[in-house]
Amino acid sequence: MTAPIAFDNSYARLPARFHARLAPTPVERPRLIQLNRALARDLGLDADWLASPDGVAALAGNRLPEGAEPLAAAYAGHQFGNFVPQLGDGRAILLGEVIGRDGRRDIQLKGSGPTPFSRHADGRAALGPVLREYLVSEAMAALGIPTTRALAAVSTGEHVARETFLPGAVLTRVASSHIRVGTFQFFSARGDVEGLRTLADHVLARHDPEAAQAENPYSALLAGVVARQAELVARWLLVGFVHGVMNTDNMSVAGETIDYGPCAFLDVYDPRTAFSSIDQHGRYAYGNQPRIALWNLARLAEALLPLLAADEGEAVAEAERVLEGFGPRFEAAYHGGLGRKIGLADLREDDAALAGDLLKRMAENQADFTLTFRNLCAAAARPEADGTVRDLFVDPTAYDDWAARWRQRLGQEQRDGAETARAMRAVNPAFIPRNHQVEAMIAAAVERDDFAPFERMLAVLAHPYDDQPDAAAYAEPPADRGVGYRTFCGT
Ligand code: AMP
Ligand code: MG
Ligand code: MG
Repeated sequence: MTAPIAFDNSYARLPARFHARLAPTPVERPRLIQLNRALARDLGLDADWLASPDGVAALAGNRLPEGAEPLAAAYAGHQFGNFVPQLGDGRAILLGEVIGRDGRRDIQLKGSGPTPFSRHADGRAALGPVLREYLVSEAMAALGIPTTRALAAVSTGEHVARETFLPGAVLTRVASSHIRVGTFQFFSARGDVEGLRTLADHVLARHDPEAAQAENPYSALLAGVVARQAELVARWLLVGFVHGVMNTDNMSVAGETIDYGPCAFLDVYDPRTAFSSIDQHGRYAYGNQPRIALWNLARLAEALLPLLAADEGEAVAEAERVLEGFGPRFEAAYHGGLGRKIGLADLREDDAALAGDLLKRMAENQADFTLTFRNLCAAAARPEADGTVRDLFVDPTAYDDWAARWRQRLGQEQRDGAETARAMRAVNPAFIPRNHQVEAMIAAAVERDDFAPFERMLAVLAHPYDDQPDAAAYAEPPADRGVGYRTFCGT
């Protein structure tokens, strides 16, 4: 019989100092909560086997599937601006890699027991944060935003000690790779240039095969990460996503959204919004995300300096040159995206100001981010629908002034109103993971063992751009506009 998972483990082949090899710690009573069959298919995995007792045992870390070479990866990172030379996978274990429809993917268990990088923590995950990550990461994928994916969630039958005892779970996370800015920092901080080069060559082969052919491949590697992150952060802003913990160890060089601990979506639009309870100064607030991304990329550039040029001055100049590419790339993605959100296909110079003025008015009037743009779609075709937008503003006349100028500008576009509305619906989601609904979903699962809300939300969020009349409740903003909502670093 052939092995149920065809592993091809490139990271395990890297030198010993890149990782600690160890198996997951078994759990008491694994039970499959959710299996992502569509993703399993894309990965070339047998979903029926994954759902079988042997498969669930593998997803719980109780049974090592043939060909797995389990390991915890070493990495470092800046946490809230402070450098920690050793972090690493403290509660995640990479089983191995598979080659799926879209290329190489890591299969990682999160919450699978302590590792040499756990420090004093337990290596486990609670059910609530596992469901949050499953739901939000899959919602991001459906929104079309690069992200790690959720293949499965398994409850463990064990409790984890947090402020109280909570049911435990294991998430199977899938990623193009789990290599972070912090992975480069790990070798850089040790002065291990050989390790740095080995890692860079691995990343080039895996994520930037074309860059490997460039005159200066390591500079091209940096440019690739800069471009992917500029695009990614723009995409976040365009759907109102607040990552919440953009430490350098949570920034993927593959350009995928990773680490869904304290993330949340905006309800009302306010760029100063920081949901995370530990982010007291708003370092990772919604509107700070581009700046922080660039700060993190500067840390990556610093780590790469020894590879960029033999002469340090030249290396610094090269790093600066590449980092300068972030701003224009981000601006183009963000302003292009904003233009599309208000129905403009061919952007003109003052369109950014028009969109910016709407955002300013939304912020001043506590307008719901998602609903404003979604309701704007209908208004593009029928001015009679204006009421559904203006009612979202504390002072509805703030919308009226803007709408008059918007209509004038829309009139200069080639498309008719119906076409414009259709195009706008494809970029302005009706459904995002609303914080109050995520909390209700978690409470149902954790307190009542009721997973129906989780499954229902997952199904609705799989089609975020479709009008789903029977799911209208999921498009509703919270009664209190979401003011004061807090998230906690998902543990
Ligand atoms: P995060 O804030 O989620 O990016 O995690 C930062 C570091 O803490 C990483 O090295 C994690 O592996 C580690 N960590 C977080 N939670 C746990 C836990 N429950 N047990 C062990 N390590 C953890
Ligand atoms: Mg992390
Ligand atoms: Mg985390």
